[in-house]
Amino acid sequence: MSRPGDHTGASRILSGLGVSPGYAIGRAYLVDRRRVQIPKYHFEPAQLDAEIERFRAALKVSEEQVRTLRNRLEVSGEEHYLILDAHQLMLQDEMLVDGVCQTMRAQHINPEWALKKVLRSIKQVFDNIDDEYFRERRSDVDFVGDRLMRNLLGMSQPTVSGVAHSGIIVAHDLSPADTLELTRSPVLGFATEAGGRTSHTAIIARSLELPAVVAVGGLTDHVGRGDVLVIDGTAGRVIINPPRAELERYQALQLVYRAQRARIDAVRHDAATTDDGHRIVVRGNIERPDEAAGVLDHGAAGIGLFRTEYLYMNREVPPDEEEQLAHYRAVLEAAGPGGATIRTLDIGGDKLAASLRLGPEANPVMGLRAIRLCLQRPDLFKVQLRALLRASVHGELRVMLPLIGGLEEIRATRALYDSCRAELRAEGQPLADEIPFGIMVELPAAVTLADWFAEEVDFFSIGTNDLTQYTLAVDRGNRYVAHLYNPLHPAMLRTIAHVVRTARAADIEVSMCGEMAGEPLALPVLLGLGLRTLSMNQNSVALIKSMVRDLRIDECEALVAEIAALRTVAEVEDHVRKSMRHMLDGALAASMLDPMI
Ligand code: PEP
Ligand code: MG
Repeated sequence: MSRPGDHTGASRILSGLGVSPGYAIGRAYLVDRRRVQIPKYHFEPAQLDAEIERFRAALKVSEEQVRTLRNRLEVSGEEHYLILDAHQLMLQDEMLVDGVCQTMRAQHINPEWALKKVLRSIKQVFDNIDDEYFRERRSDVDFVGDRLMRNLLGMSQPTVSGVAHSGIIVAHDLSPADTLELTRSPVLGFATEAGGRTSHTAIIARSLELPAVVAVGGLTDHVGRGDVLVIDGTAGRVIINPPRAELERYQALQLVYRAQRARIDAVRHDAATTDDGHRIVVRGNIERPDEAAGVLDHGAAGIGLFRTEYLYMNREVPPDEEEQLAHYRAVLEAAGPGGATIRTLDIGGDKLAASLRLGPEANPVMGLRAIRLCLQRPDLFKVQLRALLRASVHGELRVMLPLIGGLEEIRATRALYDSCRAELRAEGQPLADEIPFGIMVELPAAVTLADWFAEEVDFFSIGTNDLTQYTLAVDRGNRYVAHLYNPLHPAMLRTIAHVVRTARAADIEVSMCGEMAGEPLALPVLLGLGLRTLSMNQNSVALIKSMVRDLRIDECEALVAEIAALRTVAEVEDHVRKSMRHMLDGALAASMLDPMI
């Protein structure tokens, strides 16, 4: 086993999740985040105040460090400072601060040990959350806890700033503070042991457009400082000390990839029209209002999904009408003529919002979330509906409801929405006359009843993230069943086909905003199934638009007809891959997708 500082030269390939595509070749730079030794001792009761004072002083230092980092990020225009806001809130959180003080008072143990105990119980809460995004926020607790612990012990904070030119960061995990330095250092890519598709490392890697692989088992055991590394963010591989021929192969791949990426980016604002003349609308998904402008800059024709729940998180009190109005207005103005589909609050037992004070649920994915919660809390829901209605004069707004399973939910929401509209009119507020009102199709019940729902709403947007989860009964955040989670499953293909057909028959718009919409391999299938509007993460936009230009709808339809006869997911995937190779032969995107197709 090599240790940081050794250079064994042994060649090895490790696999992980490729979360940001492309290739990086350089020398390993290890960020050492090995655990600090935590002392344990009991103090005399008379020392309690002094020990608590010591803990509060460390809290203060930690808060100042986070504030300084945050301000530097904000000034430099980086969006990641919001993550540091979350860290700031954690440092003030009752569960942490009061938890440590109470433990010290009750047991007379030193603050370091009390902190260790409290962090463990906070992490257990995160472990029990079913949503992948929030489970991964557990790493924030680690970073905040590590910072506080080091300050209590008078130790310095680990840093990535020493990375040399052509360096590749290798770490167990990276903190938002690390990423501040990453944005300023000549780093080429990174690999971590921790993380998943929606971890900070992944999000930041994509926004910096640096190749990255996360969830690489055994990474820090096998990589030594100075080892030559290849990060293959496309295939999700880390190659340690590759043999010469392999290195040359990757150097060639890297050159091709960069050239292709530049060519694809250069035409990102061109229309996405298929080779046989069908116009496809490619929109972007956002979680925060300040992401809207960036999505448009990546070539999206508007916002196809704004997940408003993020406005309710990391705060004590939910956002009021004026605050929400300001956010929705900003998003609509940035979205331009392509407009914005703003989804009402999709939060619940599985998604944390301290401001809503929700109790724990045994099975939160099937619990009180999204529209179910909103209809139980009309006080809360009305604030959002009023803000949305008032925002309607500032752009092309589409209002969308999540997790609809029955007509009752559509009708109850419509009644509340209409009463808000009447109230606002009486108050003399200007409102748009026509605001498309649609639903996410993400429950099997909505698929089955799609014909009835289509009579009562203006559009459908297929949410494949949840629809796959509920159709296949595969928890979307559970790594033990991740191999079973595949939107190209034959059951999903029939499901999507049915929704598209039903919407078309009723003459309402149908689009897709789940992750599947931005997956290159799914694209010909979705076009063949009849979808013409897709909404995805911003970094997929240019690539998907480029692929659209090289595909023909008649060929995509033929592909769908062929896979309709295939009965296993493996056969479907295999056939789609082979057909794609043929369909994209010589196309701009083809070599970028290698070895994906
Ligand atoms: C979906 O379920 O596909 C979707 C887009 O919604 P979310 O990922 O926010 O649940
Ligand atoms: Mg969903």
